[in-house]
Order: sequence, then C-alpha cells, then structure tokens
Amino acid sequence: MNKRGILVVVSGFSGAGKGTLMKKLLSEYDNYALSVSATSRSPRPGEVEGVSYFYKTKEEFEAMIKEDAFFEHACYVGNYYGTPKKFVFDKLDEGKDVILEIEIQGALQVKEKYPEALLLFVTPPTAECLRNRLVGRGTETLEVCESRLKRAVQESEGIEKYDYLIINDDLDTCVKEMHHIIQSAKFQPMRQEAFIKEIREELKAL
Ligand code: 5GP
Repeated sequence: MNKRGILVVVSGFSGAGKGTLMKKLLSEYDNYALSVSATSRSPRPGEVEGVSYFYKTKEEFEAMIKEDAFFEHACYVGNYYGTPKKFVFDKLDEGKDVILEIEIQGALQVKEKYPEALLLFVTPPTAECLRNRLVGRGTETLEVCESRLKRAVQESEGIEKYDYLIINDDLDTCVKEMHHIIQSAKFQPMRQEAFIKEIREELKAL
C-alpha cells in the first residue's frame, strides 16, 4: 500500500465549526498534520503566531507569492490566505495525513494541482445555526459577519465540487465520520496507483 499520506482539504462556511473539529480530530488520532496558513488578516484575541497562522503584511504576502512559496493562495473577504508549500510535501513524504483548512478557491486550486487530494465540505445543519454560531462567537464585527454570510451564499454554489459533505451537528459524531471518510479514501484505486502498477508488473512476471 501507498506509504505516502493523504492530502485532505477541509472547507466550510465561516462559523461552521471547522476549527473545533480540526482540534478534536488531531487530539483523538495521531496520524494527522494540520498545515498552518499565512494570512494578511490581523490576529484575533487568543490566536498565536505560527500556531493559528503566520501573520504577514500584504506586502510580505505578495513577496511570498512572487517567490512561489505557496501551494495555493486566495483572497477572502479582503485578506490574503495561503498554504506554504514546504510543510505539506515534507509531511506527506513522512507518511502523515495532511489537512488544509482552506476556503473554496484554494480548495479548487489544490484539486487542480494534486488530483488525489480529498475534498471535504463541512456545514452546520441549518443556515440559522450558522448565523447564530458566527455572531455568537463574537470574534468579528457585525459588518464582517454580514460579509462572511454573503460569502457563504457564494460558497454554497460550489459544494458539489467536493468529494464529501459533512454535517456538523454533533461534534463527536462529526469527528468520527471525518476520520472514517479520510481513512477509507486511502483505499480508493485512484490513491493506490503505485501499488496497482507494482502488482500488475508482478503478475506479468509470474
Ligand atoms: P478566518 O479568517 O476565519 O481564520 O478564515 C477565513 C477563511 O479562510 C476560512 O474559510 C478558512 O478556511 C480560509 N483559509 C484559512 N487559511 C487558508 C489558506 O491557506 N488558503 C485559503 N485558500 N483559505 C484559507
């Protein structure tokens, strides 16, 4: 079987609970590595440089784009976000399952560049629930919440481009489902091309 890890992209509306889900997934299972993105947005209270994000000015971010430092990058509600390349490929080579928690434009760039990536879309059970979570966490102004809800309408148009839709109603159930989907996806023939090629050669040589 393929010893390389699987690349997993997790997207979902702002306020869908992706952050909490990722934390729980990483604390319960030990083969995952979560990529830390770079962003030009300001840190929220409690966020930590190098853990939540690498915080950059717009100029610094643009310099990194020129240096081709990103696997993918996108603009989201007025700020840049991007996945530094090196971490992703180092961890995949180590056999880790690498998770990118990124928005849809980035997700589609990843699928284009790396077709064996697994794309998961997380949503709360209802739109009302999304609004309550987003406004209730109190980390954004009402104006920013409104922009993020508008953005959610656009993002909902792209859900069918993902491989799986995961409904985040109960956190524990959702984490188990996500782990199960990721581990099962490794057995799909499109992610076992090297093994298939090898066994074909071996059969011919019998
Ligand atoms: P937030 O500002 O709430 O932390 O993130 C806003 C959005 O940007 C979320 O949908 C999040 O998944 C996405 N995001 C975070 N990092 C990246 C990244 O590296 N690339 C892209 N394309 N989106 C990202």
